[in-house]
Amino acid sequence: MTDRREFLQTTASCLVPKSVFATSSPNFHFIDVESGNAWQVADPVQWSLQNINEPVMARAAEGLGKLTLNDGDRVIRLVVRRCSLNLLELRPGRVGVDHWGSHQADLRPFFKMNGLARPEVEVVLKDRKTDAVSRLTGDSFLYGVPLDSDFELELFQRKWERRHSTEPDDWTAAPGTRSGFAWDGVEDGQIPWAAIKSAWRRDAPPTCQNCSSDTLLVNFGLRQVGLFNRSANIVHVCRLCRRSFRDESIIDVRAWMTANLDEAALPCFELVWGKRVKRVAA
Ligand SMILES: [Zn+2]
Repeated sequence: MTDRREFLQTTASCLVPKSVFATSSPNFHFIDVESGNAWQVADPVQWSLQNINEPVMARAAEGLGKLTLNDGDRVIRLVVRRCSLNLLELRPGRVGVDHWGSHQADLRPFFKMNGLARPEVEVVLKDRKTDAVSRLTGDSFLYGVPLDSDFELELFQRKWERRHSTEPDDWTAAPGTRSGFAWDGVEDGQIPWAAIKSAWRRDAPPTCQNCSSDTLLVNFGLRQVGLFNRSANIVHVCRLCRRSFRDESIIDVRAWMTANLDEAALPCFELVWGKRVKRVAA
C-alpha cells in the first residue's frame, strides 16, 4: 500500500490537466495543503467515498464510512476539515476554493501552471469552518508584491538601458530607494543612479517567478527589522507583471556591495540610528 507522500506524488504528476478551462462544465481538483500537490477528480463526493482507503483520506475514513452520495455537502466538509485538503472548482473565468479555517494551500503554483493568475479570473474562497466567503481576483495569486502605483518603473528602465554610459544626473538619487547607507552629495539612505548602474553592470538578476523574464534590481542595502536589527534588502522588480521580489538568499549586504559595485560607487557612510558613520570596507 502506498503511503500518503507516494500517493500525492503519483496523483500530482499525472492528473493535472493542460487546460483547466477546456469545457464549460466544472472540473475539480483537490490540493494537499502541506505538500501543495494537486490532482483532478471528476466528482469530488464520489471520489472521496470511493478512495476511503487511500492514505490521504485516512483521517476522514471513519466518518466517510457512514456517509453516502446523498450527503455531498457533508462529505466535502469532512474531507477539507480532516484531510487538510482544499477543493477547487473551476468554471470559465471563476475558481471556487473550499478550505477549513487557516488550512489554506499555497495556490500560486497551481494558478501559475494553469494560467489562472489573471485579474479577470474571479476567485471565491469559502471557509467551511465559518461559512465565510471572500472574493479575490486571480492576480492575487501571483508571486511577489505589487509595485506601488507611483513606482517609476519606466525611469528605472530608461536608466538601465544607459547603464554603460555616464549621464549628468548619475549622482542624484534614484526615486524610492532606501539603503541604510549614504553617499556624498546624496540624501541619507537614497541610492545614486551611479551605484545602481554599477550593480546593473554586474548583477545577474533572478528571473521572475511569474513570467520567467529577467528582473531589474531597484534597491539594495539594509532594512530595519524591529527596533534593533537590520537585514539585507535586495529588491528586484519584473517589468512585465510589475511585481517586486526581495532576494532572501543574500544575507551579507556589505559583501554583496563589495562584489557588485565598482569601488567609486560604494557608499561612503553607513547610517546608524539615523547618523552617518564612516564606512569601513567589508
Ligand atoms: Zn513577472
